[in-house]
Amino acid sequence: MSVKVDRDECIGCGVCAQICPSVFELDEDAGKAKVIRPEGSECAREAADSCPVGCISVEE
Ligand code: SF4
Repeated sequence: MSVKVDRDECIGCGVCAQICPSVFELDEDAGKAKVIRPEGSECAREAADSCPVGCISVEE
């Protein structure tokens, strides 16, 4: 699995980090999400589905 966040699109809402803290972290300084585990985990898909701007991509 390969997880990416398009940081140009991210609005820093923190939903991904709430749903899947093992993969996403909110970079407080930048106000954007950061992928801390690019190899992902199952919750990454749920986070991608829940992102309000759809800027998380999860590839096999
Ligand atoms: S859910 Fe989407 S918009 Fe919100 S912080 Fe995560 S990547 Fe950014």
